[in-house]
Amino acid sequence: MPLKAKTRRDAMQDIAPRYHPQEASVEAHRCLYCFDAPCIMACPTGIDIPGFIKKIATGNLVGSARVILESNILGASCARVCPTEVLCEGACVMLDRDEKPIKIGRLQRYATDAFGEQKANPFLKKMKPNGKKVALVGGGPASLGCAAELVRLGYQTTVFEKDMEPGGLNRYGIAYYKMPPEVVQREVKLIRDLGVEFRTQTEVGKDVPVEKLRKEYDAVFLGVGLGRTHRLGIPGEEKGGVVEALEFIRLIHTKPLHEISVGKRVAVIGCGNTAIDAVTQAKRLGAKEAIILYRRGEENMSAYPYEYQLAKKDGCGFIFHTAPVEVLGDKRVTGLRMIRTRTGKDGKAEIVPGSEFEEPFDMVIKALGQEKQTSIWKKLIPELKFDVAGRIECDRRTGQTSVAKVFSGGDAVNGGREVVNAVADGKKAAHGIHAMLSGKPVSGPLQASRLGHRDGAKGSGFLQPIRVPDLEAAYNRERNGKLHG
Ligand SMILES: Cc1cc2nc3c(=O)[nH]c(=O)nc-3n(C[C@H](O)[C@H](O)[C@H](O)COP(=O)(O)OP(=O)(O)OC[C@H]3O[C@@H](n4cnc5c(N)ncnc54)[C@H](O)[C@@H]3O)c2cc1C
Ligand code: SF4
Repeated sequence: MPLKAKTRRDAMQDIAPRYHPQEASVEAHRCLYCFDAPCIMACPTGIDIPGFIKKIATGNLVGSARVILESNILGASCARVCPTEVLCEGACVMLDRDEKPIKIGRLQRYATDAFGEQKANPFLKKMKPNGKKVALVGGGPASLGCAAELVRLGYQTTVFEKDMEPGGLNRYGIAYYKMPPEVVQREVKLIRDLGVEFRTQTEVGKDVPVEKLRKEYDAVFLGVGLGRTHRLGIPGEEKGGVVEALEFIRLIHTKPLHEISVGKRVAVIGCGNTAIDAVTQAKRLGAKEAIILYRRGEENMSAYPYEYQLAKKDGCGFIFHTAPVEVLGDKRVTGLRMIRTRTGKDGKAEIVPGSEFEEPFDMVIKALGQEKQTSIWKKLIPELKFDVAGRIECDRRTGQTSVAKVFSGGDAVNGGREVVNAVADGKKAAHGIHAMLSGKPVSGPLQASRLGHRDGAKGSGFLQPIRVPDLEAAYNRERNGKLHG
């Protein structure tokens, strides 16, 4: 019997609830406020982390949120979904002292949530309109980061999104217990309030020709992300009960939880972060058993270790060194025929002959990564170049593609990374577009809050965060001078 609506709602609650004010204050006071803070360098959007933490310590939450949003307009989302262990928190100097790193993500969330609920205005700096306009294709984190930066640099910006609501995978793809829809909706409202126009349910290439955008706008940004989940390529894949991970997660974000059907024994094929999001949510929605099947070993899985631990804590199962060969059943899936694999001499998985076996499952979720949209965009813009992996080729510093006036960033360019990388790409492309259209680079603040800057912030975030290697080189030069002088 499916779980009751309340039980399902409880199971999908936030996995990292917001700090109590006292917890936030204690954590903020642990920060050493390093001058050459390595966490800033480790954040792709260059947030002034010691700056926003200091403001939490002094009780100025709106000021703290402003520092975050100046650099990263999706600061509230990133606070929930960033793999902080390998980004800002992974660079915290506390680790050198064998102490726990400052919980930067949780503090960032504390400030941005408080700000969002107060409906306060962040008073982000804006330049006068400059009469130029930019079209952004796709409404995911890359375009949102780019549009927010452009509008603040004085550009008229329009985002074309084919889906019902903007937000991309942040809205429809990330596990519900990390990212409830209202967080993304609040961020989109903030960006709309800054002056960005959104045209939803408008697919570029179908509802609006891309040529029209190239003619009517001064620049075009492609933040189109990736495509559908890769196929399994085995017999029976079309049977009822075999679904794509993204479809399954999308339902969770768009339907009442009690209406979502989940199997009793669910197999999830793949072992990346998407597979973990799918298996944990299947379990939380009431599957008796939810099991990951992976053709390689535990040591090869691409999911982050903390995601793996989360799935194990949720009671999910893992079958390693196993690949599916056929989906069994008449019209609906009743099981999988599988085969054992081992690691070959070249390090790749190879099948173990004669090791086939069957297991009963009533739902199969495919989580094999997303396809690139190469063929679609080759047709839409024939001059656009792609790399060997099918990603849109561009100058990674400016986002400029092989086609004049066309820029790109996010998953479409990096092949699928994190929300914060997409926002950072969007910001870089906004600066690239500004440099191309105005002939002037964006002169952003240089550690504004601590070194000061005279001519006002243009753009956002630290363009040139203090580089520890530069300081070290200067120190070594001085030291060597003294030693040899
Ligand atoms: C299951 C899953 C879980 C994830 N979990 C995390 C996580 O925990 N933490 C994290 O940091 N990252 C996570 N990610 C990755 C993150 O979601 C992406 O890196 C990020 O969303 C990429 O942003 P983007 O703007 O490049 O692309 P998307 O978010 O894919 O946005 C692209 C948008 O473009 C639109 N679009 C495409 N073509 C057109 C067109 N022709 N016309 C109009 N609109 C178009 C699409 O509808 C979509 O809204 C996860 C990804 C997945 C799949
Ligand atoms: S945006 Fe992500 S990486 Fe950057 S400081 Fe915030 S949590 Fe850390």
